[in-house]
Amino acid sequence: MIEKYFRPQSVEEVLDLLMDSKKGLTPLGGGTTISRQRHEYQGVVDLQEADLDQIKIQGQRIQVGAMVRLNDLVGHPDIHPEIQRAIMIDASENIRNMATLGGWLISSSGRSITSSLLLALDTSLTWEPGNNRVRMGNWLPLREIEPPGVLMTEAEWWLRPHLAFEYVARSPKDKSILIAAVAQWGSGRTRVVLGGYGKNPIVAMDGPNDMGVDVACRDAYSEAEDEWASAQYRIQVAAKLALRCLDRIDAIRESEV
Ligand SMILES: Cc1cc2nc3c(=O)[nH]c(=O)nc-3n(C[C@H](O)[C@H](O)[C@H](O)COP(=O)(O)OP(=O)(O)OC[C@H]3O[C@@H](n4cnc5c(N)ncnc54)[C@H](O)[C@@H]3O)c2cc1C
Repeated sequence: MIEKYFRPQSVEEVLDLLMDSKKGLTPLGGGTTISRQRHEYQGVVDLQEADLDQIKIQGQRIQVGAMVRLNDLVGHPDIHPEIQRAIMIDASENIRNMATLGGWLISSSGRSITSSLLLALDTSLTWEPGNNRVRMGNWLPLREIEPPGVLMTEAEWWLRPHLAFEYVARSPKDKSILIAAVAQWGSGRTRVVLGGYGKNPIVAMDGPNDMGVDVACRDAYSEAEDEWASAQYRIQVAAKLALRCLDRIDAIRESEV
């Protein structure tokens, strides 16, 4: 049950409310997780009017407000088609209409393709108070233990890298049991993320080129065993999926020449 509801009009007002420890308030994004929890909330701070729903291009990076709905990313010309494809697989239309990027990043599991891709793009997150910028890869393992602030305002990622993902699920719209997401920059820098297991996607490799991707994937998932798949299966298939992503990126690059 939610006892008190606030809908402030600015980030400053949001922070005043959230930082008042006597009130014990919780941020409310799209509410898709919060509304399902049987948890007693002392009160929520609805972020929908706090001007956190902008999408801006800044040089070679894109800045996306934490309150941008997943469906607004799907329709946006500057959002990479692989991110749009991931969102369409991860979330049903109802969830896409309600869930926000901030809420998704905070509550999605290791089985989210969207979060895996954003991690591959080396996304940074801005938290308040303090305009505290943290890399998603540093934040994810600590997100439940030590949040870098009370409010995520924005996520920012590179526009230019080539991007591809491959996944395995029991059916096309089911939650993935294995995800490989690869981002490759013009310099050759290659970041490989694995998902489909555990609480968070993980970075298997971040190197100056794509050498050793298969070995890195096997190492990263050597203990990735759960009720959905054995570690042996994930080790073998993760490496193959990552190599398939690289083949797709090579084909795109060749078609651009
Ligand atoms: C039917 C259904 C299917 C789902 N399927 C999947 C799935 O396949 N894979 C997967 O990974 N997840 C799945 N989820 C979970 C999904 O990730 C979340 O429900 C959704 O992304 C939450 O977004 P929201 O904007 O509604 O957040 P809310 O429910 O509003 O909030 C979620 C959490 O984030 C906090 N929060 C929200 N915004 C901010 C902010 N800006 N700053 C600080 N804290 C904030 C809230 O306080 C709360 O703790 C599913 C959920 C549902 C209901």
